[in-house]
This record gives sequence, structure tokens and C-alpha cells, in this order.
Amino acid sequence: MKRIGLFCSGGDAPGMNAAIRAVVRSAVFHNIEVVGILRGYNGMIKGDFRPLTARSVSGIISRGGTILHTARSPEFMTYKGRKKAFGQLKNAGIEGLVAIGGDGTFRGARKFTTEFDIPVIGVTGSIDNDCWGTDYTLGFDTAVNIALDAIDRIRDTAASHDRIFFVEVMGRNSGMIALWSGLAGGADAIFIPEVREDLPAVARELVEGRKMGKTSAIVVVAEGEEAGGAFEIAKKFKRLTGLDFRVTILGHIQRGGSPTAFDRILGTRSGAAAVEALRKGKQNQMVGIQNGKMVLVPFCKMWNRRKRPDLGWLKIAEMMSV
Ligand code: ATP
Repeated sequence: MKRIGLFCSGGDAPGMNAAIRAVVRSAVFHNIEVVGILRGYNGMIKGDFRPLTARSVSGIISRGGTILHTARSPEFMTYKGRKKAFGQLKNAGIEGLVAIGGDGTFRGARKFTTEFDIPVIGVTGSIDNDCWGTDYTLGFDTAVNIALDAIDRIRDTAASHDRIFFVEVMGRNSGMIALWSGLAGGADAIFIPEVREDLPAVARELVEGRKMGKTSAIVVVAEGEEAGGAFEIAKKFKRLTGLDFRVTILGHIQRGGSPTAFDRILGTRSGAAAVEALRKGKQNQMVGIQNGKMVLVPFCKMWNRRKRPDLGWLKIAEMMSV
């Protein structure tokens, strides 16, 4: 293999730049050229390419986001779009691809490789950590630590004003960020999409807590929680308890910022493993981490399987809130 293409697709995640740097430098080490494809599958269709050299990825390991930009591409969902994309890759002499993205990106890649002759290796970039087949996705650790930092700050003001705060963290379909940041931040309750919570019971516990001398409390809510986001849940609690609440939505700040050491290392190891996989003639597989070791997981195995959070953590959080 003499030349490979590299792109990010779907939502951005901290650590993607570390993975980009690692793909480029591992490839250069093995005398393989790397072409950066801008804005995911959209850039592939348009032929929006630029050469990446070892020097062009200097100084990016500490930066959040992705220097290649990312996008969602409705056009790539069509056969015509994918055919155009393949034509562009052929013209540029690209013989293999590394895709940094999530489940949707890999579905697209799998379809692409069954229609056209080009191998793809995936690296999971997603703050949600809901991808089956890997213990951690790139960006999750940073997102958890950003949420945790915010919870710690909110705790200071909650304690000073004797307030109850509802803090909404990201996770439309996954409660992983809420569970991790909530447990680490000493939340009094954690609401996640995977569990139907008994709101009146939790409301009673908050009222009881007040009576027992707890002057402030923090409830962490995943944005996809089925009873509604943090505002909706806070409203329901107000009706149930008569207590006053404050709500903070953390939103996109959880995606930005400098990646943690964990995400930089995961990105670096994943990028190197992706190039190694292409060199060995592998395709249609995702690089994951299981028990600290880098592994390859076939794309098709990931689908129809969801990584479930350990619900025992909710029990621990409940015990910690006595
Ligand atoms: P995130 O977890 O951040 O949402 P993702 O990779 O799952 O990341 P998606 O928006 O689901 O993000 O997918 C990214 C892109 O992959 C889509 O915009 C589309 O171009 C392509 N894609 C997704 N599913 C398919 C599919 N079934 N066929 C062809 N292309 C697809």
C-alpha cells in the first residue's frame, strides 16, 4: 500500500487529532503517503483532499476537535454519492482508508467497501462511549472530566446558597457520561436513558435529605433521559416537592478542549493500530481497546449490539447519597 486516505466523520471528539497525528506518523514511518480528506464523506465526494506530512501534524496532539473538520453527509447515503466518492479516491491514487467516527460512519464504510474495492479501518471517535466492542471510545474520558469539573464548580455555588441543582450532560441515547461524571462528582441522583426512574421516590429522598441536614444537592441528568431533559425533570420535581431548583445545561463545552492523557494515548495507539491493520491487509474492522489491549472488531459485529452501562453503579450512587 503506497497511499491511504484519512478522514473524520459524525460528531467531533477530543483525541481525534491525536489519532490523526498517529495515523500520519505511523504511515510515514512505513513509507506510506497520507491524504487528508476534509469534512468526512462530503469531502470525499467533492475531492476535497490535502496531503498530510509528518510536519503538518505537529503540535496537534494537545488540541481538541479535528484539524480535518467533520461533517454528516446525506449524499453519501446514496449509491450515486458513494460512486462519486470512489471516483475521487481512485483519481487521487488512494488505496485504503482510515475512518475516525462512530457507528454511522462505520455503517457507511461497510456499505462502501461492499460496493467498491477499497479497504477501510475504523477508529471510534465518540464522546458517548456507547460503541460495542471497545471498552472506551476516543473522547469519552475528556468529556467525563469536563463534566466533572463543571459539577465540582456547581457544587461550590450549590453549597453556598443551599440549592439543589440539576446538571444536564451529553448522551442522547447513552447514560455513560452521566453515570461516570455523576459517580465521580458525588451526585445525589443520576438519571440515564437506559433506566426508567421512579421520580416520586427520588423526590422523596431529596426532601428526606433536606430534613436530615443536607443543605444542597446535585442531580446529574443525561440529555436523552426519557422523562425529558434537566429542565423537564426539574419542573416535575418542583411540582412533587415544592422545592426550588436551578438547572445547568453543559452542552457542547463537553466536546471541546484539550484531550486528557488517556484520550491522547488511546488516539495514538488506535491510529498506529489502524495503519498496522491496513498494512496487514485487514478491512472492515474497527480498532478498539479491550482490557488495555488494542483489538480489531469487525464492523458487522458491532451492529445491533449496544454497550450497556453497569447499572450497579446507580445502586452505589444511591448508597453514597445517604
Ligand atoms: P456520532 O456517534 O457522533 O453520531 P456517527 O459516525 O455515528 O458519529 P452519523 O451521523 O450516524 O455519525 O454517520 C456519519 C455519516 O456516515 C453520515 O452522515 C452518512 O454520510 C454516513 N452513513 C451513516 N449511515 C450510513 C448508511 N447506512 N449508509 C451510508 N452511509 C451512512
